[in-house]
Amino acid sequence: MKILAVNAGSSSLKFTLIELPSQETIASGLFEKIGIGNSMYTIKFKGEKYTKELDLKDHAVAVQVLMDELINMHIISSLEEIEGIGHRIVHGGQEFKESIVLTEDVLKKIENYNELAPLHNPANIMGVRAFMKVLPHVTNVGVFDTAFHSSMEPKEYLYPVPYEWYQQYGVRKYGFHGTSHRYVNKTICEYLKNPNLKVISCHIGNGGSITAINAGKVVDTTMGFTPLAGIMMGTRSGDIDASLIEYVMHKTGESITEVTNDLNKRSGLLGISGISSDSRDIEEAIKSGNEKARLAQEMYVQKIANYIAMYNNLLDGADVIVLTAGVGENSIMTRKMIGEKIASLGVVIDEEANNCRGELKLISAAESKIPVYVVPTNEELMIALDTMALIEK
Ligand code: AMP
Repeated sequence: MKILAVNAGSSSLKFTLIELPSQETIASGLFEKIGIGNSMYTIKFKGEKYTKELDLKDHAVAVQVLMDELINMHIISSLEEIEGIGHRIVHGGQEFKESIVLTEDVLKKIENYNELAPLHNPANIMGVRAFMKVLPHVTNVGVFDTAFHSSMEPKEYLYPVPYEWYQQYGVRKYGFHGTSHRYVNKTICEYLKNPNLKVISCHIGNGGSITAINAGKVVDTTMGFTPLAGIMMGTRSGDIDASLIEYVMHKTGESITEVTNDLNKRSGLLGISGISSDSRDIEEAIKSGNEKARLAQEMYVQKIANYIAMYNNLLDGADVIVLTAGVGENSIMTRKMIGEKIASLGVVIDEEANNCRGELKLISAAESKIPVYVVPTNEELMIALDTMALIEK
């Protein structure tokens, strides 16, 4: 069965064509600058990368071009081969606790949550409608970033603010990266043959979040009402004192939107180092003696370590710590430093085992009280698996 996993942005469309149950990635690619001029697309197939510039006036045109290319490039021989399309949808509010078959009625309900993710949800939904238009007979499935976190209890998801903000406006912690955390949790539980593990899942990429999971249920997660909360990230501040917003507005004359934008786009590793949000650049700068890069990295690691320690307490002792996403899968330096900062939990990273990238691997030493694993994430595969499961239901 061939399933397309799709992630639509406001001017982009990312896709991966996956064969199931073999889980083989057949092709993948990205359409960029849709509707804003100078559009282009890239399709990767059999180790080759094919790039073309073409005016794409909207997502439906991009989807039509994608279908034509899949046939022209002999990736599929007929559109009938695509049996399902799984869409990443960022926000499902409190209503969507698991993946769902998308109909026009369901899309209208999801649109109720556009206000909670104004940059993402409308774009995700636009992507779904484009596929519905071009492939009207294929099942579309929505997979929500928030859904995995819906098992949190009120004592974890409520903020200590006036209760009516929650009742009237839905102000609460929702959490994000749920599809990634669910995938790595499923992978480690299968690998260790234990579905009841207490897992601290650390998704550390450009965005980052840490989730405490007990027997497949999320107990708590670091991102909040929006993805701005929690650990320090590439360009996001993570947790801050909310009062600084008003203060900075007064000092700089910036609007609340501008300050919020600074917290999302000009903070984190980039804000402190002044160099880059990319941990590879930070590592290079540290090696050449840049003090601000070192400070940024130390803050970054400390905040991750603090949450791991907090979640170890919350879980009453974790069975396993998992590192994933761009930094978690690849940064040997960051993993080593995190290990050193959680030594009080009895964690010991094995230097030789840690010398790895992008593979499922135990990186802690035999004496480590909590084993630490690198588990490569695969949100696209999780989306495809959910889509297949709903089609076969
Ligand atoms: P993601 O958002 O999961 O794609 O992660 C992106 C981040 O992963 C980049 O900003 C890099 O900082 C980081 N990354 C990717 N490869 C490496 C690497 N080889 N070493 C260190 N960091 C890496």
